[in-house]
Amino acid sequence: MSKKSSATMPDARGHFGPYGGRFVPETLMQPLCELETEFYRAQKDPAFKREFEYYLKEFCGRPTPLYFAERLTKELGGAKIYLKREDLLHTGAHKINNAIGQILLARRMGKTRIIAETGAGQHGVATATVAAMFGLKCVVYMGAVDCERQALNVYRMKMLGAEVVSVKAGQQTLKEAINEAMRDWVTNIRTTHYILGTVYGAHPYPVMVRNFQRVIGDEARRQILKQEKRLPNLLIACVGGGSNAMGLFYPFLKDKSVRMVGVEAGGRGIKPNQHAARFHGGSLGVLQGTRSYILQDKNGQIQLTHSVSAGLDYAAVGPEHAWLHDRKRVEYTYIKDDAALEAFMKLARLEGIIPALESAHAIAEVMKRAPKMSRNKLIIVNLSGRGDKDVTQVADKVGLQMPK
Ligand SMILES: *Cc1c(COP(=O)(O)O)cnc(C)c1O
Repeated sequence: MSKKSSATMPDARGHFGPYGGRFVPETLMQPLCELETEFYRAQKDPAFKREFEYYLKEFCGRPTPLYFAERLTKELGGAKIYLKREDLLHTGAHKINNAIGQILLARRMGKTRIIAETGAGQHGVATATVAAMFGLKCVVYMGAVDCERQALNVYRMKMLGAEVVSVKAGQQTLKEAINEAMRDWVTNIRTTHYILGTVYGAHPYPVMVRNFQRVIGDEARRQILKQEKRLPNLLIACVGGGSNAMGLFYPFLKDKSVRMVGVEAGGRGIKPNQHAARFHGGSLGVLQGTRSYILQDKNGQIQLTHSVSAGLDYAAVGPEHAWLHDRKRVEYTYIKDDAALEAFMKLARLEGIIPALESAHAIAEVMKRAPKMSRNKLIIVNLSGRGDKDVTQVADKVGLQMPK
């Protein structure tokens, strides 16, 4: 096993220990190499850094606050809880950090057309937004079932000028949307950049998206040192593909005193097809360009997944998380649908913040852990997005009535 610390991963070919890599058809090797070269070149270019930071600040609204959740802390009666407010970013979630970074790269490469996949629609909206802002053509692939579940985001993308393609194959959700986006990319390589939305897929996507999202952890680190004069004891984030979690965790990986917990979707419980907790029932496999933990049956067929939150509902997890899991640097747990719904309502009522259902999984984990920690301990939880997209679904589930 390599002695390299997690903080310097991946290696030159995109491996995080035994995970990651580049498992794609021949025709995608050349554009991935081109992207990798441009990405590393941009990382060293002060002009790129300035431009990236300019748009994060002036267009997206960074830095986001690190907010002390006083009433939640008091209610739980243990550790002091801080919320990293990614929900306050333009378009309502952390996804825009990565979308800005990638569209700037696409422009440097002279691309004129942008494609993306989306599950809940948050990444599609972020991509449609930056494409509109820079005047590039944009096509977003979305499973037909997701289009129906997340109609609000479909309308938003269309208003922003994007074409939304409803994908009717298979389970008609995120996995099929990614397949369609990859098919489009193969056909239109010369003009098109594919903005992938999480720390997943073939190299260099996992490392690239992590680097565009690490601004979350870099800010949180500065903010907590300023506000509390010390590092936090615990970081908590939900894990779909894993980008908001990697973004928060990465700048703290070398701080041995900081514990980290990634929260997957436990759905209706850890039974086949009822959850999306890849570290609780998944096994080593290759899916959509990378090697990682995957929910599959004994013949290697990808299993159906379920979560109340579309953004966590995917059969595989980013390869860097798999590596951090095996090295026990990050602990991975899961929260079930009903506990996430309860946390959603709790944060709304106690703090006046309606979280995304994805983020509510992280809040539910805080509700379990904070009471068991002493009052001088500090927790930072990543509030990855706001819950507007989820209000009708939650209202229905918890039985809210219209006034008569
Ligand atoms: C997409 C999304 C997630 C899950 O994606 P990650 O890559 O794991 O961060 C979590 N929260 C929100 C609000 C999202 O939109």
